[in-house]
Amino acid sequence: MSYVNELIGFIKNSPTAYHTVKTIKEALVEAGFTEVYENSPSSFSDGGKHFVVRGGSSIIAFKGRAGNGFMITASHSDSPCFKVKNELSGVTYTRLATEKYGGMIHYTWLDRPLSVAGRVVVKTVDGIKTILVNIGKAALTIPSVAIHLNRGVNDGYKFNPATDLLPLIGLSDARGELMKVVAAEAGVNSSEIISHDLFLYNAEEGRVIGINDDLFISPRIDDLGCAYASMRAFIDAPVSDGSVDVLAVFDNEEVGSETKQGAASTFLDMTLRSIAGSEEKYSSMLYNSFMVSADNAHALHPNHPELYDSSNAPVLGGGVVVKYNANQRYTTDAISDAIFSTVAERAGAGLQKFSNRADMVGGSTLGSISNTRVSVPTIDIGLPQLAMHSASETAAVSDLEDMVKILTELYSSGIEKHGDVISIKK
Ligand SMILES: [Zn+2]
Repeated sequence: MSYVNELIGFIKNSPTAYHTVKTIKEALVEAGFTEVYENSPSSFSDGGKHFVVRGGSSIIAFKGRAGNGFMITASHSDSPCFKVKNELSGVTYTRLATEKYGGMIHYTWLDRPLSVAGRVVVKTVDGIKTILVNIGKAALTIPSVAIHLNRGVNDGYKFNPATDLLPLIGLSDARGELMKVVAAEAGVNSSEIISHDLFLYNAEEGRVIGINDDLFISPRIDDLGCAYASMRAFIDAPVSDGSVDVLAVFDNEEVGSETKQGAASTFLDMTLRSIAGSEEKYSSMLYNSFMVSADNAHALHPNHPELYDSSNAPVLGGGVVVKYNANQRYTTDAISDAIFSTVAERAGAGLQKFSNRADMVGGSTLGSISNTRVSVPTIDIGLPQLAMHSASETAAVSDLEDMVKILTELYSSGIEKHGDVISIKK
């Protein structure tokens, strides 16, 4: 199967961060990885193929015996969406009260088929248990107001999340139905559900577009494009004797990463320490480690080139993007760029560079946050894409292929520092 079709399937199976972790877990198990748990850190250092999950929505997988260093990729499992609070029953309609999760482009969520997925916590005889649910069917929509009732809508409209963006789930007789469907999906009675983390998602599936089939449009390309490419490369690359390969996919990037399972947490640091097995080994391995922070980049917009620095504007189809920011919102520096460029050249794939216009402030991402806990040379890269944080985003097929190629080469490599010389070993 082509990478783009595999990615479209990966995204379909990953409507929430919990499901992203489940999808990755299933691929890892199929590839011979076994789960280890944070309460038994000694099981991390046996040189085997393992993964560890925190909070149900972040995952770190690793393979190889503790050697020279760690070769790490980091991406994120979450995307901007709406969290379900409760049902709003009316005389005529049933709606859901929701709350924004992260910063989406509001209008892109209107007039689409939406669905609900997440997790429920249920009572059992032994205690409480978490069950993932995805109701699957397109059951909701957030309707626009007709232009006849809002003549000014095309002059720009500010959507209020508390009033304009509440989804319709049915007529008045739909009252109570959502939790019944969720309970049936979980295989329990609704009375057994104690609490939930449920989210809306765009129920449309990704597809290849472009007259030459060279683009694809899909929900959650940010950042499941990078999570998928990193996972594919991590599984496909042979175990290298020089370094331990590490695949980290964190939740909560869209809300600042400062959670128990986010990139700002102890998760990566503690996992790497456990793999190393001793403090001394950990310090010596960090010295020869490298990290790729993989989160998407803004490709040149076809209708708005003026928003970009004309000499640093990546394009769709131009290859993986290396992201630079003088104020270190992106971690890339000359050294990490040189290491990554060497790997990309060996993989036979070109790179392109991105910096924001000097008068614009861009976003930040996993790398700089993670570096405050695990301080290793890091590069910020991403797939070039359009419409970041829209309910439906667009990217290029060839860039995805390049990313898998480069990251596979990266996972087959290791770095070794000797004074001011760094050798990049195969
Ligand atoms: Zn992102």
